[in-house]
Amino acid sequence: MTTFRTLDDVDVNNKRVLVRVDLNVPMDNGRVSDATRLERVAKTIIEISEKGGKVILLSHFGRPKGVDPKASLKPVAVTLGYVLRRHVGFADDCIGKAAQDAVAAMKPGDILCLENTRFHPGEEKNDPAFVAQLASLGDIWVNDAFSCAHRAHASTEGLGHVLPAYAGRTMQAELDALAKALEAPTHPVIAIIGGAKVSTKLDLLENLVTKVDALVIGGGMANTFLHAQGVNVGKSLCEKDLAPTALRILDRAEAANCAIILPVDAVVAFHFEANAPSQAYGLDAIPGDGMILDVGPRSIDRIRSAIDDAATLVWNGPVGAFEIAPFDRGTVQAAKHAAARTKSGHLISVAGGGDTVAALNHAGVSSDFTYVSTAGGAFLEWMEGKPLPGVEVLRSTRN
Ligand code: AMP
Repeated sequence: MTTFRTLDDVDVNNKRVLVRVDLNVPMDNGRVSDATRLERVAKTIIEISEKGGKVILLSHFGRPKGVDPKASLKPVAVTLGYVLRRHVGFADDCIGKAAQDAVAAMKPGDILCLENTRFHPGEEKNDPAFVAQLASLGDIWVNDAFSCAHRAHASTEGLGHVLPAYAGRTMQAELDALAKALEAPTHPVIAIIGGAKVSTKLDLLENLVTKVDALVIGGGMANTFLHAQGVNVGKSLCEKDLAPTALRILDRAEAANCAIILPVDAVVAFHFEANAPSQAYGLDAIPGDGMILDVGPRSIDRIRSAIDDAATLVWNGPVGAFEIAPFDRGTVQAAKHAAARTKSGHLISVAGGGDTVAALNHAGVSSDFTYVSTAGGAFLEWMEGKPLPGVEVLRSTRN
C-alpha cells in the first residue's frame, strides 16, 4: 500500500540522518506536560540509532520571532532522552558552527537534537539558502512529522528536494492508516463529522460527500443543517447565514450517492453548564429558549446502526458538547460502539483532529480504534483532500 520510500529502502549505517520530528510538545513551567509526541517518534529514532545511523533531530517549537530562549528545545531534548532511555546530545543552533561541530563529533548510533528551526526566518520561508545549510549536515532526510506535513517549510519539505528522502516509521504508520481510511478503503465507508461550527469544516464536508457512502453530521454544526431544512433550533449554536451552503452540501451528497445522517432528535438544555436539567425532544418540538447540546437517543441508535453497516469509519469532531456531562452521551456511546466493532474485526476506524482525540480519550476507547491521529491541522487538511507538501515530497523525490 505504501507509495513512498521508507526506512526499509535505505542503509542508514554510518550515515548522517536528518530526522524531522515534531517536538512541539505542551510545556508547563519549563517541563514537558505531555510526552505523547515524544513516545510516538521514539521508534524511528531508536531504529536508526540501532542500525548505526547518526540521528540528527530537527524540529520547530512554538512560534518564536527569531532566537528566543523561552522557545529553546533544550528541555524537550532532555525529556526525550528519558523517553528513549538514551543520551540525547544538544546543539545550540540548527545551522552554522555549533551544529557542524556537534555533528562532526557524532559516532554511529549517537542521537543529537538541534535547536529550534524557527529561530531562523528561512525555516518558514523555505529559503533555499537555509535548506542548503541544513542539508550540509546530513546525508539523507527522514520525515517523521506527519503533524507538520501540511506546511512547506525548510525542514518539513525543502530538504526533501535536496537530499534522498524517506518516511519515518510514525509517518509511515499514519500514511498507511489514512490510505486505508479514505484513499483505498474497504466500502461501505462512513464518516462521522461533528464539532461546533460548519464554517470550519466546509472543505472537509465537500470532500467527504464525494468519497464516503454515508456521512453522519452531529454536534453544533448539525444545527445549521437542521435550520436549513426548516427545523426550529431555538437558541442552539447555529450559523444561519450558512443555510444555503448546508443545502448545497446536501445536494452534492445526493448527487454523489452519499447518505446523510442528521439527528432525528436532540438533547436540549436551557443553560450551557454541567448537569444542567436536560431532556430529549423530537425535532418538531425543540423549545424556543432551549439549546441543543447533544444528539438524542433515537439519533444515537441511528448512528450505531450506520456504524454496523460500515466496513470503514473516519471520525472527526464530537457529536455533542462532550466536555460537559451529560452532553457527552452521544459521543461516548458512538465511540464505544465503533471501538467494539473494531475490536470484533468488523470495522477499520480512523479518527483524528483537535477535540476528537480528547473526546475518544474521554470515552476511554482511543486504544481500541484502528488508528487515532494526533496531528490536528494536517489530519484535517488530509480529510479535506488537500495534498500535504511534506508527504508529496516523499513520493516524488530523487534517490
Ligand atoms: P471542533 O473543534 O469544531 O471539532 O468542535 C469541538 C467543540 O464542539 C467541542 O468543544 C464541543 O463542546 C462543541 N460542540 C459539539 N456539539 C455542540 C453543540 N450541540 N452545541 C455547542 N457546542 C458543541
